[in-house]
Amino acid sequence: MPFSVRRMNPYWLEDASPPRAMPTHAGRVDVAIVGAGVTGCSAALRLAEGGLRVRVHEARAVAEGASGRNGGFALRGGASRYDVARETYGREAAAGLWHWTEGALDRMEPLAGDALRRPGSLRLAADEEEREQIRGEHETMHEDGIAAEWIDDPVDGRFHGAIFHPEDGALQPARFVRRLAAGAAEAGVEIREHDPVTDVDILDAEHVIVATDGYGHGLVPELADLIWPTRGQVIVSEPIGRVLYDKPHYARQGFDYWQQLPDGRILLGGFRDVSIMDELTDVEETTPAIQASLERFLGELIGEEPRISHRWAGIFGLTQDMLPLVGRIPGRDGLWVAGGYSGHGNVLGFACGELVADAILGDASSPQLALFDPARFFD
Ligand SMILES: Cc1cc2nc3c(=O)[nH]c(=O)nc-3n(C[C@H](O)[C@H](O)[C@H](O)COP(=O)(O)OP(=O)(O)OC[C@H]3O[C@@H](n4cnc5c(N)ncnc54)[C@H](O)[C@@H]3O)c2cc1C
Repeated sequence: MPFSVRRMNPYWLEDASPPRAMPTHAGRVDVAIVGAGVTGCSAALRLAEGGLRVRVHEARAVAEGASGRNGGFALRGGASRYDVARETYGREAAAGLWHWTEGALDRMEPLAGDALRRPGSLRLAADEEEREQIRGEHETMHEDGIAAEWIDDPVDGRFHGAIFHPEDGALQPARFVRRLAAGAAEAGVEIREHDPVTDVDILDAEHVIVATDGYGHGLVPELADLIWPTRGQVIVSEPIGRVLYDKPHYARQGFDYWQQLPDGRILLGGFRDVSIMDELTDVEETTPAIQASLERFLGELIGEEPRISHRWAGIFGLTQDMLPLVGRIPGRDGLWVAGGYSGHGNVLGFACGELVADAILGDASSPQLALFDPARFFD
C-alpha cells in the first residue's frame, strides 16, 4: 500500500476560488476577526450586514484551516449523541440546539448553492452495543419531535442498525466558505490573507473575535486548556464507477465517516482512536498508522484495493463538554471567542459565527449564548 506517499493535498481546496471584492478600511475598525474559516467568514458577513466595519486577519488563505480539510458532513445538532446531550444539558436545551442547527442548515443553502446537497445522513451501529446506544438515541429524538428514522438492516446488512437523519447535508466546505468570504467582502469586509496575528491586544479594533477553532493554540492563554487542538486524517479514492454510498455515512460514534462525492470518489476520515493520544496535536501531518487503517477500511467499503488520490490532516478544537465556546472571554475587555466544535463545526461554526456577531450587534437573546458561554469554565 502506498501510504509512504505522505502527500498533503486536500481535495476540497483544489476547487477554483470565486472572484472576491477587496475592500480595505483605514485605521480602527469596529470588529477584528482572527481566522477566515467558516466561523470567521460567517461572523464577518453578519456584522457587515449589521452596518459594522470589519477586518479579518487570516494566517493562510480563506478556508485553508479545518474548514477546507474536513469530511464535508453538514450535520445538525451538537457533537454528542442526542440522548447524551439531553441527559447532559437538559431536554429543552438539547431540543433547542438541534432545531437551531436545522435552521442554520436552511440558511446555509442559498449561500452555498451547489456546495451543499441535502440527501440526509446515516449514523450506523458497528456492533450490538452501539445498536443499543443509537436505538436509545432514536427513541429520545422521537419523543422530542426531532425527525429521524430507524433502519434495521442498513448497507446490505453489514451494520447493526442505523438512524437516518433526513435534514442533514453533504458539503463542499471550501467552496462554501470561499463563497461566504466573497459575500462578506461584497458587504464591505476587509480580508487580509497571509496575515498571522501574534497578539490580539495590538489589533486596532473595538472588539476582537478569536475564530481559530483548533488552530492558533496559545494565542489567548485563557483558552489554551479549554479548546484542545486535535488532529483528524482523511483519504480520498480515485472515482469508482458505481454509486455505493448516496449520502454521508458514519459509524463507531463518528470515529469513522465516509461519503461518495459527486465525481464518484469516496472520501473517508477517522480512525483517530488508533493512536488517540498522538492525535491530540496541532501538527498538521498524516501518520502511517492511521493512513494504513483508513486504506484498509476503504478497501472493505468498496470491495477492492483502493486507489488513493488525496490524503491530508487537519486540526479541530475539542472541548471538555463537547459544546463550543461562544461569547465574551471573561476578564478580557472586548475579546470574544467562537470555536471548539469538537469535530462538528460545518453547521455549528456557521451558526456560531452568526451568534457571536449578533451578540456584538446587541442581540443576546439566543438561549444558545447561555449554553455556549465561555464563563462556564471560569471561576
Ligand atoms: C479532518 C477533519 C474532519 C472534519 N470533519 C467534519 C465534518 O465532516 N463535519 C463537520 O461538521 N465538522 C468536521 N470537522 C470540524 C470542522 O472542520 C471545524 O469544526 C470547522 O471547520 C471550524 O471552522 P473554524 O472557522 O472555526 O476554524 P478553521 O476552519 O480551522 O479556521 C481557523 C483559521 O484560523 C487561522 N488562524 C489560526 N491562528 C491564527 C492567527 N494567529 N492569526 C491569523 N489566523 C489564524 C487558521 O489559519 C485557520 O484558517 C472536521 C475537522 C477535521 C480536522
